[in-house]
Amino acid sequence: MIKTISYLGLGTMGSGMASNLLKANYQLTVWNRSAEKCEPFARKGAHIAETPADAVRDVDLVMYSLSNEQAVDEVVFGTKGILSGIKAGQIAMDMSTVLPATSLRELEAYAKRGVDFLDAPVFGSKQESADAKLWIMVAGSKTIFEKVRPVLEHLGQTVHYFGNNGNAAAMKLVGNLIVALEMEALAEGLVLAQKAGLDLKTVMEVVKVADFRSPLLVSNGQNILKRDFSTSFALKLMLKDAGLIEKFAASLSSPIPALRVAEKNLESAVALGFGKENACALIKALEKEAGVEVKE
Ligand code: NAP
Repeated sequence: MIKTISYLGLGTMGSGMASNLLKANYQLTVWNRSAEKCEPFARKGAHIAETPADAVRDVDLVMYSLSNEQAVDEVVFGTKGILSGIKAGQIAMDMSTVLPATSLRELEAYAKRGVDFLDAPVFGSKQESADAKLWIMVAGSKTIFEKVRPVLEHLGQTVHYFGNNGNAAAMKLVGNLIVALEMEALAEGLVLAQKAGLDLKTVMEVVKVADFRSPLLVSNGQNILKRDFSTSFALKLMLKDAGLIEKFAASLSSPIPALRVAEKNLESAVALGFGKENACALIKALEKEAGVEVKE
């Protein structure tokens, strides 16, 4: 049974998950590059580690949620990284959004040390992470999955098993392809509605009930109308994911023409300086082109 856990990466997603692990009474060790983010966890009884290598010593399970491939490279493979502290018999689980190929590279490195590895990315954002309502996908050994499932049930509302390592990472990119296209569709639709002089509150009332409705369209549409771009899922992370989807699709010769359009608008919005805002700030690139601002 898993009792001791290390969580590395206390950003938007990691901080919610680490809080819920404490609430579930696991003995928790935390590490974050910017050390001040560890302090609230120490006050609630977590141990603070100085390096990733120190963080992972002697715990049953090591979990991490990091920005991108570079962060995973540094925290897992770097000097004083996880691999220099972890030992045979421990379990490592990457919850970041990365390429399936990166998960396989992690698998290989851990396997050389007798460490079991799962890729376990998530859907949901800041609120779902804080409320333990994530939608979690897991790939790797079924036996190890069954061992960590009780932990994941403290973090999410669903847990889906995807078989071989890399498959959960692949599913995350499939889902984020759909997310990016929904966000692009919402932005294009709202700019067109504004240009057409429609009452935007009524537009959103229809979006909420019509057969094309989705929670993502509703929450982001309402935030755009309020001009609330406070960050749950940063625009620059969505651009990062678009780059991953492009690479992954290219590796399989799978066409993604619409994603390329969304990616171009994401790039424009980041170039305009909105990278740290919420992903729905994608609309700002289209607003600039259209010469309008979409608001209530
Ligand atoms: P975030 O708030 O930006 O946090 C990123 C974390 O990675 C922070 O702990 C950050 O440390 C750390 N980090 C970044 N670069 C690093 C480096 N070079 N070395 C060590 N640590 C580094 O991001 P997030 O929103 O929590 O997302 C985390 C992961 O989950 C990403 O892969 C993202 O795509 C994915 N995801 C996000 C959402 C969402 O809605 N936000 C949803 C599903 C999946 P510092 O605190 O020092 O910067």
